[in-house]
Order: sequence, then structure tokens, then C-alpha cells
Amino acid sequence: MTADPSLRTVLVVAVALIDVDGRVLIAKRPEGKQLAGLWEFPGGKVEPGERPEAALIRELREELGIEVSASCLSPFVFASHAYDDFHLLMPLYLCRRWEGTVVAREHSALAWVRPEKLADYPMPPADDPLVAWLRDLL
Ligand code: C5P
Repeated sequence: MTADPSLRTVLVVAVALIDVDGRVLIAKRPEGKQLAGLWEFPGGKVEPGERPEAALIRELREELGIEVSASCLSPFVFASHAYDDFHLLMPLYLCRRWEGTVVAREHSALAWVRPEKLADYPMPPADDPLVAWLRDLL
């Protein structure tokens, strides 16, 4: 199936925060938002003129209350998914170092999950393919 070329593309940056035990942080989308109740890799939309890494640093500060430095954000894979009303392009960064303790400021829950258990958590279709990639990588 080819993507509808009239769909606008939305660039979202997301991150797999990985703790010292190799667990990955996922966050539950709250009621009232699109895809409420599904678990996602934290992140958000890149604003016009914003560098992707700067957007991710901003989102992690707003959503989780942590500070990440751009030098700690390392290689990524791209997720791409055509939703009904837009096409989502979403690089996933990996990050193993941050300052502060994660707090769910915008999500309804947070969970630290072993890579092989990520598939037990329902995710938006854009995030789903990233799970197999992380399982193989970690
Ligand atoms: O978080 P926010 O609602 O700003 O994200 C914009 C859209 O990007 C969401 O409605 C959702 O469709 C998609 N998204 C996603 N996976 C993520 C983050 C966002 O599919 N990890």
C-alpha cells in the first residue's frame, strides 16, 4: 500500500530511555488525548525551525522533568506510519544518561520494562515496529 501523497507529514521525536538494568521507559497516553490508554516512547512534535534534538530535550523536560544533553542522544531508527489524517515520521533516539528522576507530568502512568516484555504493552501503530528493533538491539 502506498501512502496518500496529500497527507501532511508530522515530525515527532521519541526516545528509548534505558536504565542501568537495561529496562526501557514507556509512558501511557492520558485520557482526552488521541490514542489514550496506549503506551508510547516519550517525546513529541518538532516545532517549525526547531532542531529535532532540541525538541526532544524540551519534551523530556516538559513531560518527565529530566534533563538530557544532546551529546547523550545516540543513533536512531525511523518509524513511519500513515494515520487517517496525517503521516507520522518519528526517529527514535536512545539515551542512557539523564539528570533527575522521571515523573509523569503529562502521562497517566510510566513503566520501566525489559525489552522482551515491551510487546505486552499496547502501543500506537507507529511505535509498534520499534519494539522488535529494541529487542534485537538491547
Ligand atoms: O503526543 P502528541 O499528541 O503531540 O503526538 C502527536 C501524534 O503523534 C499523536 O496523536 C500520535 O498519533 C502520534 N504519536 C505516536 N507515537 C508517539 C508519539 C506520538 O504515534 N510515541
